[in-house]
Amino acid sequence: MQLPTLYIVPTPIGHLEDITQRALTVLRTVNLIVAEDTRYSGRLLKHFGIQNRFFALHDHNEARCVPILIKRLQSGSTLALVSNAGTPLMSDPGFQLVCACRAAGIPVVPLPGPCAAITALSAAGVPTDRFCFEGFLPAKRAERCHALQALVAEPRTLIFYESCHRLVECLQDIITVFGVERPVVLARELTKLWEQIYGAPAGQLLEWVQQDPWRQRGEIVLVVSGYPGDDQGLSPAVQRTLALSLQQLPLKQAAALTAAIHAVKKNAVYRYGLTLKQRLPAEEASALS
Ligand code: SAM
Repeated sequence: MQLPTLYIVPTPIGHLEDITQRALTVLRTVNLIVAEDTRYSGRLLKHFGIQNRFFALHDHNEARCVPILIKRLQSGSTLALVSNAGTPLMSDPGFQLVCACRAAGIPVVPLPGPCAAITALSAAGVPTDRFCFEGFLPAKRAERCHALQALVAEPRTLIFYESCHRLVECLQDIITVFGVERPVVLARELTKLWEQIYGAPAGQLLEWVQQDPWRQRGEIVLVVSGYPGDDQGLSPAVQRTLALSLQQLPLKQAAALTAAIHAVKKNAVYRYGLTLKQRLPAEEASALS
């Protein structure tokens, strides 16, 4: 009996030549391909002359189907997990399946391959030594602004996936929360015919996007430079605690609470909080003081 294994298999995010030889071998030889959309992946495999059996696993059936797939693996099957594009689990289904395999002691073998976030980051011309992948921001404006506010002091590069329908609104919110000067890179249609990578301060990027509706189409990654401000030597964890506390408390109390949690100097936290407030829109800054 062969060893049960779950392979995580990335697929192209546009350009079909980006699939690896190893991915093709795995997709050809496993007992079953677990796919987010079987019709979509079926077309991909047909392109490469591969025929195999499919099982549909998406957000709506994952909890119910994971035990079935675990049983299948435990009886000796090999499975390959694919999503519609890029690396499974990166804003795509598969998390519950991977957790269940690991809990059951079933080997999970990841293959390296395409991922829109990393592809965008590699060409964005912003610091890549430390970054945060934030996936999709909330669709509703208030929640999106709230999520952005929690990141206002984040010094690492931020990567967001965004729907083309919300691009303009999202850039407006980035400007409101992070300021017009924050550098943002828009990477759209990566690896495809109309690939476009354009970086500018957020305010200018919004103008550029609004100048031509074509620039609001297709698949989009936003790469946002991290907060450049004077961090008073405070660690990212302290900065994050303060940014979150400021959503509920006035600066003085937020600084005291943050300093107590992290055992750092209250004055440094307070001074850092002052620089943060300068980045917020006037009405929010006054609400925090
Ligand atoms: N698992 C995928 C990955 O590894 O990148 C991402 C899946 S997520 C559901 C789809 C989002 O990824 C799109 O809305 C877009 O933000 C981004 N994306 C996928 N393909 C892209 C491309 N060719 N160019 C730019 N962004 C892309």
